[in-house]
Amino acid sequence: MVPQPAPEWQPVCKICERGTLVRKKVFRMSGPVVFIGFVFLIPSVLGIIASILLFFGVLSTGTSGSTRTKNEVALNMRKAGVPESIIADVLAGNADRSDSQIANQDRTILDAQEKVKSNLAIQVAAGERMLQAGIPNSIIRALSTEGRLSTPGIAGSSEMSEWLDGATPEQREMFQAAKVQFHEPPAESLHAVREMQQAQIPVDVIYDVRMSKDADVQAWMGARHEALQDAQNKLRDNKETSGFALFFGGGFAVAMGIASFVGGLLGWLLVMRKSVLQCSVCSAVVNAS
Ligand SMILES: [Zn+2]
Repeated sequence: MVPQPAPEWQPVCKICERGTLVRKKVFRMSGPVVFIGFVFLIPSVLGIIASILLFFGVLSTGTSGSTRTKNEVALNMRKAGVPESIIADVLAGNADRSDSQIANQDRTILDAQEKVKSNLAIQVAAGERMLQAGIPNSIIRALSTEGRLSTPGIAGSSEMSEWLDGATPEQREMFQAAKVQFHEPPAESLHAVREMQQAQIPVDVIYDVRMSKDADVQAWMGARHEALQDAQNKLRDNKETSGFALFFGGGFAVAMGIASFVGGLLGWLLVMRKSVLQCSVCSAVVNAS
């Protein structure tokens, strides 16, 4: 036998005095109104879900778009030889700081070029004296290149030692003096190299400056300026575009969410139920709470 729950106390109907009043949940509103309530409620719930998804979708699209642009411009600047610290400033939008760092690099390079030129003039004079003393041009050039790069090796080449064997004492003396002079560049040109290193100028550009490859240096400076300008433009455009998309896409999602919520609230009010006592015989209804 299945145990039956103890029957609740059920009051007797005051109207027919025969039936008992049974507790029931009924809609507060009439049938058509409840129908309209459901018509409001169901799309509203879907609308709230859709607006939440849309909102986060817009947010993540905007974020991934700007990340992609940042990676792209960083790569372009890196290729153009822009130092990492300047790239970081450009990405962070510190235009003043990146511009002044680039200007500082330009100034440092121009200074170094001046120093290399004056140093070169001294070497050219020494070279002319050596040429007059009958020292071959190739030997002088090798000595000068070696001095400028501070890389010993060329002077020890077989060509050079062969020539030295056959040189006059006077030529040899001049050669050794020039070697010292070329190998010990003036303190100020060493200083210029240090300044270029501090300004984070790439080693190959420093090499070009020291070798007086002015056209190459100029090209590098131009390409770097262009890459920087391009990066700043792209970042600004991207900021505007994604700001626009976030504003309208996000705004639309929020508006849809609010409308859905209000609609849902209205629908919920229309389909609310209440607790009543209903007579089992005459169906009379008494409010209960
Ligand atoms: Zn009754």
